[in-house]
Amino acid sequence: MNMGNTIEQKPIRKVLIANRGEIAIRIMRSCREMGISTVAVFSDADRTSMHVRYADEAYNIGPAPSWESYLNMNKIIETAKKSGADAIHPGYGFLSENSAFSRLCRKEGIRFIGPSPESIETMGDKISARKKMIAANVPVVPGTTDKVTSEAEAIRQIKEIGLPVMIKASAGGGGRGMRLVHKDSQITNLLRAARSEAKTAFGDDAVYIEKYVDSPHHVEFQILSDKHGNTVHLFERECSVQRRHQKVVEETPSPLLTPEVRTKMGECAVAAANACNYEGAGTIEFIMDDQLNFYFLEMNTRLQVEHPITERVVGVDLVKEQIRIAEGYELPFKQEDLKQNGHAIECRIIAEDTDNNFMPNPGTITHITEPFGFGVRCDSYVYEGYTIPIHYDSLISKLIVWGRTREEAIERMRRALFEYKITGVKTTIRFLERIMATPDFRNGKYNTHFIEKNSEFLHADGICDKKCEDIALIATFAEYLDRIEISKKINAAPSIKKETNWKRQIRKFTSRM
Ligand code: ADP
Ligand code: ADP
Ligand code: MG
Repeated sequence: MNMGNTIEQKPIRKVLIANRGEIAIRIMRSCREMGISTVAVFSDADRTSMHVRYADEAYNIGPAPSWESYLNMNKIIETAKKSGADAIHPGYGFLSENSAFSRLCRKEGIRFIGPSPESIETMGDKISARKKMIAANVPVVPGTTDKVTSEAEAIRQIKEIGLPVMIKASAGGGGRGMRLVHKDSQITNLLRAARSEAKTAFGDDAVYIEKYVDSPHHVEFQILSDKHGNTVHLFERECSVQRRHQKVVEETPSPLLTPEVRTKMGECAVAAANACNYEGAGTIEFIMDDQLNFYFLEMNTRLQVEHPITERVVGVDLVKEQIRIAEGYELPFKQEDLKQNGHAIECRIIAEDTDNNFMPNPGTITHITEPFGFGVRCDSYVYEGYTIPIHYDSLISKLIVWGRTREEAIERMRRALFEYKITGVKTTIRFLERIMATPDFRNGKYNTHFIEKNSEFLHADGICDKKCEDIALIATFAEYLDRIEISKKINAAPSIKKETNWKRQIRKFTSRM
């Protein structure tokens, strides 16, 4: 539907980025290409952050805790006015899905690069989103359509839905406020736990109940909607490699989908966006079983962490499109113009201890070598000597590779991870290397239980690492022999110190055989 020229087209000249880290830089890069000036904001903990250096201007907005800086709406609006920014990009996390902020921007005459407060309200509340989807004929996970407050009500509903079920926070996000119930005897405790976690995390303890989808696959669709009533989808992202209901590796196309199911899901994604009069970039998340039945899970009304894999395969700069939509332009393409080309994978490089329950591990980076080369993109914000603050998410960077085929993309990712060296903090790099070597991942036969199911192989004391270590020792031994050969030729013996060192390693190796 095209409503003609009723929408005013007004170019944006200066954007304030109300975020930090890799996503702030990623947004500024598109602004720079579009000739738009950039304004960074930073907390006291982020004075030395790369996004501050990259921007044309930067302003301090307060102390380290995010509620005093990156979530301080009035301070951010005041800074936008002071700097003369005519638009604000919220990135992901922080204020990106906050309808009050979108409304405040509207009131203050600053363009919010994202959807209207009304769309955020409808889709941000998972119960109201489920209702909207049912009305739009988009399949939702079987479950309650209203919030569940009492234990008696929960027991009655669960009997109807059938175990196992998920108790989920209506305001939920980031995998929080969610509990899996297997047995009747768990209902009381888990209902209480989900509600109290939701209250703490989101200030709202409303929960609902959903059937637990067996061997679940998380498959989401990227959409773009302009102010003229045009919506397209940019295909799917497979995000089933998760820990604590949070994504670790994403890829597109999904190894699971058939062309028919892809078409059907794309149509549902477009219908979902239209049902809430969406404007901007958004993601419709679906949960899918092994028989490829799919159900609406939630909508993320913002740019997604894993958006670069879509950009690579579809060839569209999503941030540029977000800005153009906010400027009032029509989408420059139609659904039939969009195609998937090749295969892309993203690995999240996070400062955490994968062998200790994925505990965050912020600290100072003493050395860093980033991967480059054909088909490699590294969206990062850190540098040698940089101290990752303890106050925020511990994402260091996102490594994205492209290949003509899935197999090539996997091998390219292994090569890029091999090149990636970070010392000073524990990171997910080696863990991700092992994921790329896991048969279930390589065969494309995995669901959200992948990490748990392959834990023996994936953890450092697992089989894979022992093998790697043995191979490394054989290689060093071979190199040692080589060196003896060379030194014989040049008539000099290898240094004694080195020899003892190698000998010790060889002894260690042979004792294990
Ligand atoms: P994606 O769906 O884009 O993969 P994630 O669930 O990994 O997103 O979250 C994206 C970012 O937003 C992370 O930095 C996460 O900590 C943050 N985030 C997600 N949900 C919330 C929330 N409800 N409140 C605050 N931060 C959130
Ligand atoms: P969040 O807002 O925290 O991202 P989601 O509703 O998107 O919450 O769910 C996050 C993850 O939890 C999903 O990707 C999936 O792994 C799991 N999950 C959520 N609901 C279900 C369900 N009904 N059945 C199986 N797994 C689920
Ligand atoms: Mg989600």
